[in-house]
Amino acid sequence: MAECEYGTELMNPAEASGSIGTATEKARPPMFESRLREGLSGEARLFRDEPMARRTTWRVGGPADWLVEPAQEADLAWVVRVCREERVPLLVLGRGSNLLVTDAGFRGVVVALAHPLWQRVEVVGDRIRSGAGARLKAVACVARDAGLSGLEFLEGIPGSVGGALRMNAGAMGSCTFDVVELVRFMTMDGQVEERSAREMGARYRGCDGLRERIALGAVFRGRPAAREEIQERMRQYSERRWATQPAAPSAGCVFKNPEGLAAGRLLDELGCKGWREGGARVSEEHANFIVTEPGATASDVLRLMARLRSHVQVERGVNLEPEVQIVGEGAEAWVCWKGD
Ligand SMILES: Cc1cc2nc3c(=O)[nH]c(=O)nc-3n(C[C@H](O)[C@H](O)[C@H](O)COP(=O)(O)OP(=O)(O)OC[C@H]3O[C@@H](n4cnc5c(N)ncnc54)[C@H](O)[C@@H]3O)c2cc1C
Repeated sequence: MAECEYGTELMNPAEASGSIGTATEKARPPMFESRLREGLSGEARLFRDEPMARRTTWRVGGPADWLVEPAQEADLAWVVRVCREERVPLLVLGRGSNLLVTDAGFRGVVVALAHPLWQRVEVVGDRIRSGAGARLKAVACVARDAGLSGLEFLEGIPGSVGGALRMNAGAMGSCTFDVVELVRFMTMDGQVEERSAREMGARYRGCDGLRERIALGAVFRGRPAAREEIQERMRQYSERRWATQPAAPSAGCVFKNPEGLAAGRLLDELGCKGWREGGARVSEEHANFIVTEPGATASDVLRLMARLRSHVQVERGVNLEPEVQIVGEGAEAWVCWKGD
């Protein structure tokens, strides 16, 4: 039986239920939690009213009704099944480095592949097999230690393998699917399948094949090279990153680059650096980064994003599309421009 933990902001269950509004009641079918818990293994963890600010790099956002950390594929299949049968929304969370959860929080179940099972990274010849919960940095370091080149660009992207597959994350002229050979995933029927990378529908900052599926892991391919050479490239990439990006909490680039343009340069040219809404501010180091200060809210970030978008639209006639994924109660209000 999985333990149930309460987020510190709602330690008292009575207080927790007292704070639930109509929409929340609707998203909590009777007995849902006990049903959810009864099919989980003893190692799985179940949290209730888990503050998403703690699990996202922007450090803002309200609670998820439930958060599950499955300890085996059967746990995950169970969560998928119960959510489907009870019609409760399900969200997969990686390291939360490309995610904005609204202040009202997420009405449903968040699944986080945080258990060590999902974080294994192993070398098989010139291939690297990794769980979806592994950090990209870990994959890059294992590749370096094995003398496999091509994965150096992953080092500074603060996400998980699952999030990088879903976003086709990229840097320094390469993207995730350039180096992925195979993806293992779970369908919303709880079936586990494997597909070659080219069957996954990867594109610039997205992967259609994972919109309705959960990535469980991937096989990466590297090219044999000298370790020192790989290490030197990683050092250069890291130096470049630290010279151009802020250290304050952010979610990386907020907007995708429009065709033939760099969103950051556009925002910089239009004088947006330093623009502020509450505790959210456009970084002085990189105009496509919004950084947050203690006390900032998701609404501050959303208002600032809206201002930036409309300014670019008015001044240049360019429609900026968010790269960050916007989820949670009330996200529909931003639906015309939330990430995909
Ligand atoms: C300082 C900083 C620098 C960054 N630099 C870069 C960069 O250079 N290049 C770049 O591309 N991005 C960058 N990012 C953004 C971010 O790190 C990447 O998009 C990363 O791939 C997101 O991974 P994650 O695990 O944090 O995903 P999350 O933010 O947790 O989730 C992102 C999306 O992926 C989905 N998802 C997560 N796991 C899975 C899974 N297992 N199966 C299916 N869907 C899943 C989520 O539901 C969500 O829709 C940066 C972010 C920060 C904070």
